[in-house]
Amino acid sequence: MVRTTASRLLSILKPPIDNVIDAEITVVGSGPGGAITAAMLAAADRDVLLIEEGEFLPLESAVHFSREEVCQKYRNGGITVGMGKAKVGYVEGRCVGGGSEINRGLYHRPPPEVLEGWKREFRTDQTLADDLMPHVAASEQIAKISHLPGPAPTISEKLGDGARRLGWHCMEVPRLFSYAPTWKSGSPGVKQSMTETFIPRYLEAGGKMLPETRVRRLERHGGRWHLNATRTEGGDRRPLEIRTKTVFVACGAVQTAALLRRSGLRRNVGNTLAFHPMIKAVARFPEPVNGDGSLEPVHQVKEFDPNFSLGCSISKPPAVALAMMDRPESLPELEGQWEHAAIYYAQTTGGRGVVRPLPGFDDPLVRVRHDPVDMQNLAEGLRRLAECLLAAGAEAIFPNVAGCPPLRSMADLRHLPDELPSERVSLTTLHMFSSCPMGEARERTVANSFGKVHDVDDLHLADASLLCGPTVVNPQGTIMALAHRNVVHFLESRRH
Ligand SMILES: Cc1cc2nc3c(=O)[nH]c(=O)nc-3n(C[C@H](O)[C@H](O)[C@H](O)COP(=O)(O)OP(=O)(O)OC[C@H]3O[C@@H](n4cnc5c(N)ncnc54)[C@H](O)[C@@H]3O)c2cc1C
Repeated sequence: MVRTTASRLLSILKPPIDNVIDAEITVVGSGPGGAITAAMLAAADRDVLLIEEGEFLPLESAVHFSREEVCQKYRNGGITVGMGKAKVGYVEGRCVGGGSEINRGLYHRPPPEVLEGWKREFRTDQTLADDLMPHVAASEQIAKISHLPGPAPTISEKLGDGARRLGWHCMEVPRLFSYAPTWKSGSPGVKQSMTETFIPRYLEAGGKMLPETRVRRLERHGGRWHLNATRTEGGDRRPLEIRTKTVFVACGAVQTAALLRRSGLRRNVGNTLAFHPMIKAVARFPEPVNGDGSLEPVHQVKEFDPNFSLGCSISKPPAVALAMMDRPESLPELEGQWEHAAIYYAQTTGGRGVVRPLPGFDDPLVRVRHDPVDMQNLAEGLRRLAECLLAAGAEAIFPNVAGCPPLRSMADLRHLPDELPSERVSLTTLHMFSSCPMGEARERTVANSFGKVHDVDDLHLADASLLCGPTVVNPQGTIMALAHRNVVHFLESRRH
């Protein structure tokens, strides 16, 4: 297993006195898209600089899903909000490895029917399932995918039990994880985040890295890119310029769109952000279900895809309290009972929004909107979720909908609205994409089918922003395979 060691950290670049760095290729952002792109370029002996706004920290620098981890590795301490009629809290990683460091690593391959839809609508001519398959396999070889080697945690099994009783399709989702053979007695193993997989490969291949460096703008002078950046050193921000022939932008769906727009690249940029909105509910069971060991929940109900899917969330006490945010009157029912409680969610595919940078501010404005059909899907998802949890033996369900009474029996499901009322819910999302979609349909895309920005020399995108729409399933597998395919295409096209 490749682990981050002190010797590898030596590849972190010290900025020169004159604050100017030259590199042949610069990759901005080190999440799954950027890390894979950089690793493949370095392995092909290219002179590569990887720039990341957040810190370079080992995976184990903080307990997973702890307050400390949120402070170290999340953007804005995990509090970022999309503005709209229904408020949507969204979360982004901000550290070397991006979202892969803070997520659960639940893994799905790119769904062929989703790729076919993109091909029809966006003319992503080459993005067929068959074309992507070798790249799926190549990334899975480096970042290992595995199923739990034993029983899932109880909160996860509960979802599976309910689905089985109702005859619904439910699966144990594999994870980007290398489980330890002795997982029962201690640490479960090592998540296959980017700092455990592609980043060490990148550094071993001679790639250079600049963490704690934020790219503010891209400018083109004399056939080269000049990246206007700031580096944080001991609390101070120092200006830095990176001069480079080719740039790959991989800052994640929100930040990539914001960076391009700040740089004057606006055509179709940031207009079509898509996300998977999620409504949560806390279930209380008669017996303890929560807090058994260090394994994370893995069950998902797929019976109703693509309209909605159901799943389980991390349910530490602070998270349970947060999921009750819109119904404080129910909190006494959980007092001293958190081991009996767990968070579940229904998730749809209909979140849409726009990204706009705000002059003078680091963070862009994200405006979200939900069409009534999506709010109906979310309501139906919540109803099915409650049905599943009651079938699994829950004695009360507390949906995160203000004013909705607790649901204690199937008859109580009538209290749920047919369409989620925007003003009474708090939605969240972890999956954002499509702010700069790819394809040959130029009237609606930003980049071609391989991520090269239309009509702009030597500028490529390599992250979730390129996806043409929701993936329906957890997106990291699709982002990794696309980044791998696109960088292989880049390297091959330069060889001719
Ligand atoms: C809490 C959480 C749980 C999730 N769970 C799952 C899951 O189980 N399975 C799954 O498939 N997906 C999951 N996801 C989603 C998945 O992590 C993301 O889809 C994926 O990380 C996106 O990859 P990316 O390369 O597009 O960007 P990111 O991972 O967002 O990485 C972008 C990086 O760019 C950096 N950056 C941004 N702007 C700049 C700038 N201007 N200059 C320099 N650097 C910059 C950021 O700091 C960040 O590190 C989860 C996400 C979160 C937040």
